[in-house]
Amino acid sequence: MKSCLGGILCYNARGCSKRWRRLYSHFNLDIILELTPVAISWRNHIPAMINIQNNISLREYTTFRVGGPARFFACVKSVDELKEAVAWAKGQRGSDGDALQIFVLGGGSNIVVSDAGFGGLVIKNEIPGMEFSDETAGIVMATVGAGENWDSFVAKSVELGLSGIENLSFIPGTVGGGAVQNIGAYGVEVQGAVDSVEVLDVARNEIVDFAAADCGFEYRDSMFKKNPGEFILTRIHFNLKKFDPAYAAVNVSYRDLKEYFSKIPEKSAAPESITPADVREAVIDIRKRKLPDWTKLGTAGSFFKNPVITEAKFVELKAAYPDLPSFPAGKATSEVVQGFVKVPLAWILDNVCGYRGKIHSGAIGVYQNQALVIVNDYLSAGNEADKAAGTAEQIKSLAAEMAQSVREKTGIDIAPEVQYIG
Ligand SMILES: Cc1cc2nc3c(=O)[nH]c(=O)nc-3n(C[C@H](O)[C@H](O)[C@H](O)COP(=O)(O)OP(=O)(O)OC[C@H]3O[C@@H](n4cnc5c(N)ncnc54)[C@H](O)[C@@H]3O)c2cc1C
Repeated sequence: MKSCLGGILCYNARGCSKRWRRLYSHFNLDIILELTPVAISWRNHIPAMINIQNNISLREYTTFRVGGPARFFACVKSVDELKEAVAWAKGQRGSDGDALQIFVLGGGSNIVVSDAGFGGLVIKNEIPGMEFSDETAGIVMATVGAGENWDSFVAKSVELGLSGIENLSFIPGTVGGGAVQNIGAYGVEVQGAVDSVEVLDVARNEIVDFAAADCGFEYRDSMFKKNPGEFILTRIHFNLKKFDPAYAAVNVSYRDLKEYFSKIPEKSAAPESITPADVREAVIDIRKRKLPDWTKLGTAGSFFKNPVITEAKFVELKAAYPDLPSFPAGKATSEVVQGFVKVPLAWILDNVCGYRGKIHSGAIGVYQNQALVIVNDYLSAGNEADKAAGTAEQIKSLAAEMAQSVREKTGIDIAPEVQYIG
C-alpha cells in the first residue's frame, strides 16, 4: 500500500487503492498524488509489493563504508518486484530532466559511492533461491537467485560434495555481482562454472537468457559490466561437478594453495585426497591472513586490475626489478596470449612504489598486508558515523596518486577494478 506519512513517502502497493482512495476521497486526490514523483508513479502503474524509499544512505550498504544517499532506494525480492521497480523508474525524471538513472546494488563490495550520493533509483537485488538438480554424468546444475550471498552458495556447494567454485570461497557480495564482475581467485574464475544467466532486459522489461558464451566474460569483466543499466541479473545457472576422481579434480595449482598443502604431510603425499572442502578451508585461512576483515575495515578488496603488458615491456622492467613476477595474460585466468603477460600490481605498488601500509588522509590508506587494497579505517576514526571516517573523495585522490606513481616509475597505466558510483 502506498502511504504518505509525515513527509516520508513509501511506494508499498500491497492491497492498495480502493481503501486508500476511500480514505482520501474527501481530499483532492490529484493534489495528494502530485506531492512527489513517487506519488505520481502510483497513478501510472499497477501496484506491486515494492517500497520505494527516499534519501537512503548508501554508506551502510557498501563494504567501503563511504558515500552519500540514494535519492530513491528499493529492495526487490522477486522478478515481479524488480520489473515493478524498473517500470516505476521509467515513469520518473532525474533532476536534470533526463530519464531517472537506475543502479543495481548487490552486496556493495566492489563500489565506491560518491560523497554526494546517487541521484537516481538504487535497486538492491535480494532475489533469493538456491536449487541443485540431480546429478547427470557427474554434473549437478545449481540455479541460484542473483541476490543470494555468494559465499553461502559456495559453502552449500562444498557441503554437497560439489566442485568448481571452492577456490572462490570467502569473496563478499552477491551471486549476481559475482557474475557481473566475473570474480576470480586462486586460479579460478566464476565464468568456468556458469552455464547461463537469466536477466531482465531493462529496455523491454522482459526476462531473457544468455548462454555463458554470450556473456562476454573477461578478466573481472563481462558484457553486463560493459553495458551498465541494460541488464539486471535475476538468476544464474551453474554447472558444478560431483567431486569424484572419475569426474573432477580440485585445482590447487595456484602458488599459495600449493604452499599451503605442501605443509600438510598427508595431503602433499596424496594430493588426490584433497577435497573441495579442504580447498575451501585453505582459501579461507589464506584470505583471512592476507585480506582485511571487511566487517571492521572498510574496503572493496583489490582496488585495481592487474595490468597486462607486452613481453618486451616486461623484459625492460625485469632488468630494473629482477624479482618482478608475471602470469599468463588471457581473458580467462589460465589462458596464454602470445606476446603479453599480466604482472601483479600489488608487487609493484609494494616494492617499486612503496605503498603498502601507507596512510593517505583521514582514515584512508593502503592495507598493511596487501598494497592493492585501499582501506577505510572508519572504526579507529571513532564513532562509525563520525565525520573523521574516510570519504569517497579521499579514496579517489589516493587511487589517482597511486596510478600516477605507477605510471611515473614503470610507464604502466593501471585501471580500477572497483566502480565509482554517483
Ligand atoms: C575483502 C574483499 C575481498 C574481495 N576479494 C575478491 C576476490 O578475491 N576476487 C574478486 O574477483 N573480487 C573480490 N572482491 C570484490 C567483490 O567482492 C566482488 O567483485 C563481488 O562479486 C561484487 O559483488 P557485489 O554483489 O558486492 O556487487 P556490487 O559491489 O554491489 O556491484 C558491483 C557491480 O555489479 C553490478 N551488479 C551487482 N548485482 C547485479 C545484478 N544482479 N544485475 C546487474 N548488475 C549487478 C553493480 O551494478 C555494480 O556495477 C573482494 C571485495 C572485498 C571487499
